[in-house]
Amino acid sequence: MTDTTHYRICPLCEACCGLEIKVKGGVVSSIKGDAQDVLSQGYICPKAVALKDLHDDPDRLRTPLIKRNGQHVAATWEEAFAEIARRLPPLQAQHGRQAVAVAVGNPTVHKYGLLTYFPRLARALGTRNVFSASSLDQVPKQLACGLMFGHWMTVPLPDITRTQLLLVIGANPLASNGSMWTVPDFRGKAKALQARGGRLVVIDPRRTETAAVADAHHFIRPGADVFLLAAMVNTLFANQWVRLGAVAEWVNGVEAVQQAVAAFTPLAVAARCGMAADTIVELTRELAHTERAAVYGRIGTCTQTFGTLASWLVDVLNALTGHLDAPGGAMFTKAAAFASNTSGASGTGRGVATGRHRSRVSGAPEVMGELPMTCLAEEIESPGADQVRALITVATNPVLSAPNGPRLAKAFESLDFMVSVDIYLNETTRHADVILPGMSPLQDDHFDVSFPQLSWRNHARYSPAVLPGEERPFEWQILLKLAAIAQGQGADLDVNALDDAQFAHEAQRQFGARAGAVIAATAHLRGPQRLLDVALRTGPYGDAFGPKPDGLTLAKVTAANACGGVDLGELQPRIPELLRTPSGKIELAPPQLLADLPRAWADLPSAAADLVIIGRRDVRSNNSWMHNLPTLAKGPFRCTALLHPADAARLQLVEGALARISSGTGSIEAQVQISTDMMPGVVSLPHGWGHGLPGAQLSLAAQRPGANLNALLDDQARDPLSGNAVLSGVAISIMALT
Ligand code: SF4
Repeated sequence: MTDTTHYRICPLCEACCGLEIKVKGGVVSSIKGDAQDVLSQGYICPKAVALKDLHDDPDRLRTPLIKRNGQHVAATWEEAFAEIARRLPPLQAQHGRQAVAVAVGNPTVHKYGLLTYFPRLARALGTRNVFSASSLDQVPKQLACGLMFGHWMTVPLPDITRTQLLLVIGANPLASNGSMWTVPDFRGKAKALQARGGRLVVIDPRRTETAAVADAHHFIRPGADVFLLAAMVNTLFANQWVRLGAVAEWVNGVEAVQQAVAAFTPLAVAARCGMAADTIVELTRELAHTERAAVYGRIGTCTQTFGTLASWLVDVLNALTGHLDAPGGAMFTKAAAFASNTSGASGTGRGVATGRHRSRVSGAPEVMGELPMTCLAEEIESPGADQVRALITVATNPVLSAPNGPRLAKAFESLDFMVSVDIYLNETTRHADVILPGMSPLQDDHFDVSFPQLSWRNHARYSPAVLPGEERPFEWQILLKLAAIAQGQGADLDVNALDDAQFAHEAQRQFGARAGAVIAATAHLRGPQRLLDVALRTGPYGDAFGPKPDGLTLAKVTAANACGGVDLGELQPRIPELLRTPSGKIELAPPQLLADLPRAWADLPSAAADLVIIGRRDVRSNNSWMHNLPTLAKGPFRCTALLHPADAARLQLVEGALARISSGTGSIEAQVQISTDMMPGVVSLPHGWGHGLPGAQLSLAAQRPGANLNALLDDQARDPLSGNAVLSGVAISIMALT
C-alpha cells in the first residue's frame, strides 16, 4: 500500500480548517494544518488530531443496531431497514403524519450528505414536528438577519483583517474560532489587529480566553445584552453620532429605531447591566468614531429571553455607525454554492416569515420551518390528536445538549418507535429501536454548505474522501431510504434510482429546456456530489454549464484541493444586490422586533438573581460528542463550576470540592473551581457533559462523565420570537457537599 497525502476540511467545528492528512499502510499517520489552505493558512487547534481518534474509536458504530428485548444487537442493513419499514408506515397510517417527529443535530452541518438530503427526509415525512439544534443556539441571529436583510443566512460578520476595532459581546472566538463566523486562527488575526494599532474589546460575564488577550474587558450581567445594546443605540442618537455611510440610501426605519430606544438611556440600564453609564457612553463613542469597526455578538447574546432583540441591535449598531457592508466593518460573504442571497432576483425578494404553523402544546411559532427543540418533550408526552409517537434523530444528542435532558430521556423512552442516524450509541440514541451509523468523516467526501456563507474570506474548497468507504450506505443514501420508507415505498427500493429520478425532476424544474444537457453533464456524479456540481456551476462564480468557461465547476474545485482550494478574495460590499427583502431595503426596524422591545423595557427593573449560571466553551470540546476521544479527554478535568472567590467565600465552597447546584428545574453535582475570571454572582459550567447513563456506549466519556448543565435549565424558557432556549443567566443556588 503506497503512502498518500490528503487535504481535508476539518469537520469538527465551524472554523473548517484545512488539514493535511498522511496515510501509511491504510492508516492515518499524521494530521497537520494545511499551510496552503486559502481559509486557514496552516492553523489547526488541538481537536483536529482527534479526527484519527474518531475514526479509530472502538465505540464508533460500524453496523446497524436493533433493540431486541431491551438490548441493542448488531443487525444487517437489510434487517435494519426492514424493521423500520415494518414499524414506521403503520404508525403513520394510524396516527397521521404529525405523529412522527424528526430532530437533527449540529454534526449534520459538517456532513454535506446529511445536510443536502435531510430536507428530503423531512419532506417525505410530511411532519411539522421538525426540531434542530438551531433553536438551542443561533436562531435569534438568523431571525434578526432574516428580517433585516431578507434571508436567514445573510449574516454580517467582522471583516477582521481590515478592522481597527472589534467589539465582541457574549462570544469567545479565541476558543471557538468563530461561530456564525468562520474565522480559523482568531488569535493570530486578533494579534494582527492589535499590531496595526487596532483594539479588541470584550463584554462578557466571564473573563474568557478572548477577553484575556483583549485590550479591554467589561463584565456584564448575563441576559442584559439587550439593555446595553439598546442604550448604545440610544447614545448614538443622543449625541448625533449616527452615520449610515455607503448603505444610507438602502436603509428603512432609522427614525423608528430612534423612537423605540428612546427610553433606554445608559443611566436607565446601567444597574441591570452591571456596567457604569459612562462606560456605555465611552464604548459607543469609540465605536462611532473609529473608521473601521465592527460589533460581533454570539452565543451569549442569542441564548437568552431577549435573544432576537439583542442579535438585531448588534447589527443596528453596525448600520448606524456606518460600518455595515464597509471594508473593516461588518460585511457579507459571497459563497460559491448553495447561498440563497446569490440566487433569484438580485436586490429584492420575499423576505422571511415565521409562525406559519405553531407547536401543538405551547403554541410556539415555527421559525425556518422548525419548532423549538424545547417543545419536543411536551409534544411526546401530551396526549391528543397529532401527539408525537415516533422520532427520527439525525446526529443529535439532546438528552445532554438540550434543556431538561432528563425529561427528554423519559419522553424518548415512552415513544412507540425511534430511529437514530448516528455514529454513537449515546445518551439519546440508547432510546432508539434502530440505529443506522454513517461512515467516519475520513471515509466521506465533503463540501461545506453553510460556512462559506459565513467565512472571513470568500473561498471554495472540496475534500475527496481520505480513506476508502465500506460496503454500506453513505448517510445521504440512508436518509433517502428512510424517506422512501416514510412514503410507503418499502425497504427494498433502489435509492440510486430514486436519486436519479428526483434529480431529473428537479433539473426539469430548474433548467427547463436545458435539463437534458445538465443531466448529461453531471451523469458521472451521484448524490451530494451531483448537487454540488450544479450549485457551483450555477453559483456566482460558476461556469453556468458553458457560457462562462473560466467559471467554477466541481472538477476545478477538486483540482484545487492539493493547493489549498480556490481563493475568491476578501469580502466586498454587497448591498444592495444581496438584499432579499420585499422593499429591497435593509429593514432596520422590523415591526416584530419593535413590538418586542416593550417586553424588555418591562423587564428592566427586575431584580437580578443572587446567583446565575452560564455555559462555557472549551477549545478541546464541542457540545457533547468529543468526550470519547483520547486526545481530547486527557488533561485537566474541564467540567468544573467556575465561580468568583467572593461567592465561594460566602457560600463556603473550596477549590476542588464537590457542590450541589440546584435550579427550579433540577439539581446536579459539580466540582468547584474558584477564579477571579468570573463576575461575582455568576457561575459557569460547560454543557454537553453528564455521560455514563445506562445503555450508552461511550466507554472513555463514562470514566469522567461530568455534570449535565442542561439538567438545570428550564425547557419552558424561550425567546418568544425565535423559540430559542434560554441557556444563560438561569437562577441557581449552590451548596457544598461534605
Ligand atoms: S478550530 Fe480545530 S476543530 Fe475547528 S476546524 Fe479548526 S482544527 Fe478543526
